[in-house]
Amino acid sequence: MKSVDAHLAEILGTVRTLAPLELELERALGTTLAEEVVAPVPLPPFDNSAMDGYAVRSADVSAVPVTLPVIDDVAAGSDELRAIGPGHAVRIMTGAPMPAGADAVVPVEWTDGGTATVTISRTVQPGNAIRRAGEDVQAGQVVLQPGSVIGPTQLGIIAGVGRRRVWVRPRPRVVVLSTGAELVEPGTPLGPGQIWDSNSFTLTAAVRESGGDGYRAATVGDDPAKFLEQLDAQLVRADAIITSGGVSMGAYEPVKEALSPLGTVRFEKVAMQPGMPQGFGVVGEDQVPIFALPGNPVSSFVSFMLFVRPALRKMRGLPAGPSETVNAHVVGSVRSPAGRRSYLRGVLAGDGTVTPVHGQGSHQLAALSSANALIVIPEDITELPSGASAQVIRL
Ligand code: AMP
Ligand code: MG
Repeated sequence: MKSVDAHLAEILGTVRTLAPLELELERALGTTLAEEVVAPVPLPPFDNSAMDGYAVRSADVSAVPVTLPVIDDVAAGSDELRAIGPGHAVRIMTGAPMPAGADAVVPVEWTDGGTATVTISRTVQPGNAIRRAGEDVQAGQVVLQPGSVIGPTQLGIIAGVGRRRVWVRPRPRVVVLSTGAELVEPGTPLGPGQIWDSNSFTLTAAVRESGGDGYRAATVGDDPAKFLEQLDAQLVRADAIITSGGVSMGAYEPVKEALSPLGTVRFEKVAMQPGMPQGFGVVGEDQVPIFALPGNPVSSFVSFMLFVRPALRKMRGLPAGPSETVNAHVVGSVRSPAGRRSYLRGVLAGDGTVTPVHGQGSHQLAALSSANALIVIPEDITELPSGASAQVIRL
């Protein structure tokens, strides 16, 4: 059997980082920056008031209370500015440019709020409540490095330096395709021998959570020809494909039967539990990576976490490797098959303990949904006593 590490290494050696493209900011959330973003001007671009109040010469308010004539009103966005002379005040709003001659802002709270004249009750230091040009960013400064993931605040600074479009590595488009003659759509009645398709929902959501755009394709039954037809139709819009089901040792394994003859997808046994049968390779003219995951709901999800998630990171241009683990103490003793790395579903608590959930079968979807961690039991360990420490992958 192939080791989990060897399988992941093969996958990461095959998938390619997506080529950069230029996107409108509205479409850039969750993408990876592929250029340096540079500020063309300083930020703020000009000295401006940090508060609503009065721009003054601080020397004029060194003895208080003092009453000064208000010679002008400046709102944010004002472009016609009167310079202030000795003994003058200008009513000013937050973000409005500082008038020439003024060296401080007196917050409105320290005044009577007057409009013709203003009485000021507190002295101010020079520079009070002024935001200086370039205080946030200097002109020419790099504000974001390539490789940064673009979240809301990164979008903010890109817009804040005046950019409308940006070069990014896009979110990978991943088509999820469930196979199984027993599957019916949730929301429709179950006939004899049928189950509701859950994997395609889990996997599509897992793709989204991993920074990709997941698309749920219509489920196909167990006919290899129909599977190939659907795969072909979906390939045009996919950077990667995930299939579920149809890769085991039984009869009616459409994914394996359809893809094996191509010679570009390998079906192997990986030394893990759950999730032993795995297929991986490339399909189509563009050599689109395909992850053929086993159909049991827990197996397909664990396989996603171990193999697809790191692959999506690589496609996004991010550092990719095995899932990060934390150390935890296992509550209760656990058993694990010899020679296979097992991933038990558990609940990781704040006190550093992890408790395996009840129901460790690879079909036990409810148990999986109650877990927040996978407890990793190495290949050579068949039994762990209660309280032993183990590595845990957070879900
Ligand atoms: P397979 O890998 O196709 O042999 O399927 C293994 C088990 O997983 C069977 O019990 C299937 O009914 C179940 N299964 C396969 N695909 C799905 C799916 N999309 N949603 C829920 N269960 C599935
Ligand atoms: Mg099946």
